[in-house]
Amino acid sequence: MADFVIHVGCRSAQGVRPNNEDRYFADPQQHLFLVADGMGGQEFGEQASGLAAEIIPRVVHDRLAAKEDPGKAMQDALTEANLAIIQAGRHQPAGRRMGTTAVVAVQREDQVYVAGLGDSRAYLIRGQRVEQLTVDHSVAKALELNGTLTAEQARSSPWQHVLYKFLGCAEMTEGAEVRPFSPQAGDRLLLASDGLTNHVADDDLREGVRVFPQPQQWADHLVDLALQRGSRDNVTVVVVAFEKE
Ligand code: CA
Repeated sequence: MADFVIHVGCRSAQGVRPNNEDRYFADPQQHLFLVADGMGGQEFGEQASGLAAEIIPRVVHDRLAAKEDPGKAMQDALTEANLAIIQAGRHQPAGRRMGTTAVVAVQREDQVYVAGLGDSRAYLIRGQRVEQLTVDHSVAKALELNGTLTAEQARSSPWQHVLYKFLGCAEMTEGAEVRPFSPQAGDRLLLASDGLTNHVADDDLREGVRVFPQPQQWADHLVDLALQRGSRDNVTVVVVAFEKE
């Protein structure tokens, strides 16, 4: 591994929802991190995100151990989770869909690889720069990208939460884009469900390192902030801090 020590902070809050359909996975030894946000209501969303949080880290770990390319390892893991969730969804009542988002990050050597499906996001915060590393697979975002909606219209669009790519989606024929970056000392990688990202802006993320150098403190702060601002969703964050040894 590159000469970084990584520190991790994680938190998932149920909020006012009757259950928590978000799941996360964070293993600093394996340098492997994930947030999944289940959909489907009642136990089905939990089952979908639970399958993602179990299958994806296991498959990524096995493929990397077999010396597979990290990008390919992640895509294989997403494909395997997709099939398992479709299979599990066959037992749900007719007319319901069961699925989950997933955003995954793994570090190998001097690269961090990030992939996402759905609208859970990964952000890189480097100094004053805040960069979203993932694309939201919502219909509103797609309409914004092709010029049909402005960014402002997309934010208030009824299509904002309708996803066209997620795990458990039988029509999902193309995998997620894998986005690599080279970490630098001081970087913060944030993985988050939309219960957070609907309620915090880039400016809020920019102050994270300065005000909350400890990742767990920052994770707690971000979740509290989203809840204070009225998030009625489950709120989940994984924060990874890269520091010089
Ligand atoms: Ca959510």
